[in-house]
Amino acid sequence: MHIRKQRLLTPGPTPLYPPALHAMMASDIHHRTEDFRKVYKQALTDLKDVMGTSNDVLCFAASGTGAMDAAVSNLFSRGDQVIVCSAGKFGERWAEIAKAYGLDAKVLTSEYGSVVSPERVAAALNEQTRTRGVFLQACETSTGAEHDVKAIAGLVAKTDAILVVDAITGFGTMPLEIDAWGLDVVVTGSQKSFMIPPGLAFMSVSPKAWAHGATSDLPHYYFNLKKEKKSADAGESSWTPATSLILALGEALKYVKHIGIGNLVENAQQLACATRRAVSALGLELFAAEHPGSAVTAVRAPKGMDSGVIVKGFRTQFGSIITNGQGSMKGQIFRIAHLGYFDFTDLFGLIAGLELILHANKIPVKFGTGVAALQEFYAAAQEASAAGRPSSCSRAGQGCGTGWSQCRTGRCAEVLEAVTA
Ligand SMILES: *Cc1c(COP(=O)(O)O)cnc(C)c1O
Repeated sequence: MHIRKQRLLTPGPTPLYPPALHAMMASDIHHRTEDFRKVYKQALTDLKDVMGTSNDVLCFAASGTGAMDAAVSNLFSRGDQVIVCSAGKFGERWAEIAKAYGLDAKVLTSEYGSVVSPERVAAALNEQTRTRGVFLQACETSTGAEHDVKAIAGLVAKTDAILVVDAITGFGTMPLEIDAWGLDVVVTGSQKSFMIPPGLAFMSVSPKAWAHGATSDLPHYYFNLKKEKKSADAGESSWTPATSLILALGEALKYVKHIGIGNLVENAQQLACATRRAVSALGLELFAAEHPGSAVTAVRAPKGMDSGVIVKGFRTQFGSIITNGQGSMKGQIFRIAHLGYFDFTDLFGLIAGLELILHANKIPVKFGTGVAALQEFYAAAQEASAAGRPSSCSRAGQGCGTGWSQCRTGRCAEVLEAVTA
């Protein structure tokens, strides 16, 4: 018998930050009091701060999809031409929401594991000159792939359309310069990089997006951006807020501000880069090899093996919850998350467990191969940082020039080693 600590290692909900969890116990508080208004105002201020924007930031008692829904129902009108970049299950969700509200959506699909290129968006914008909005995922959590948000934003900024970014897992795992890049609407959710339980959705709204909303004719009631903004300015939410989650959020944001949003992103990017290196060393194939994001790494199960066996192995042998593929990817891939409150100790254990599970299923594994790849990466990154050298190869002016987030196979780590040698 072994003790199996339960570990939630999924790309949402993510591991919880303990002080945030403890803060939730103070939720015997009324939301229309000065005490709560203080907490709520501070949370919104800190949220704006970590999102790094001067745009309005709103908070809803909903999962992330609630804010996606709100963006459509408040900022568009029936029959509006829009472009949806769909690279996976969450891109499909944008298309479904657009359809539910009667928008005229041109859906640019890409194969699972790949992304919609800026060139395709440019062509669609040229073709559809009355486009009112472009929707995409910063990181498509179902495949692990990452869109080129900056390039697409640059294209959209030149038009009358607004860019609506589902950054629910992109936030905290990749640079997202909301103001500088012109990201009109950015949606995120509490159970991802924010390290707290599900139930809150956040959304930033640019002046251009507000102007779009002024002429919107779609029905909405609970999710009313204008009303929510007015409430927020008064330190309140329109309806009863999820007080316990707001208390948790306050604590988590304090932590994120303390470590710095840049370091939160780099943490995820380093974990992702190290993971790509480890699974490649084990002879496994990456699912989104061309544009890997840093929120989650999707890995193909070895030939002839159902990825559900790996997911189940983690649960039954190690008490760890990891995720299978969604939809048609189920059984093909498993996903290793990096966003929010994940650290290298989590990853060391996870890769060691993966080696054991593969071995138990007759996949040839030399024990320690994946773990060694992580250790080498970690040691090199530590040395580089101790020597005051830039810890990402793109900043060192070497390597593939993309940094941890796009580093294909761990070349960043090789460059690091060369730099530190
Ligand atoms: C988690 C997630 C969502 C939101 O899902 P909810 O279950 O509504 O919180 C949306 N998009 C992406 C990319 C996600 O990862």
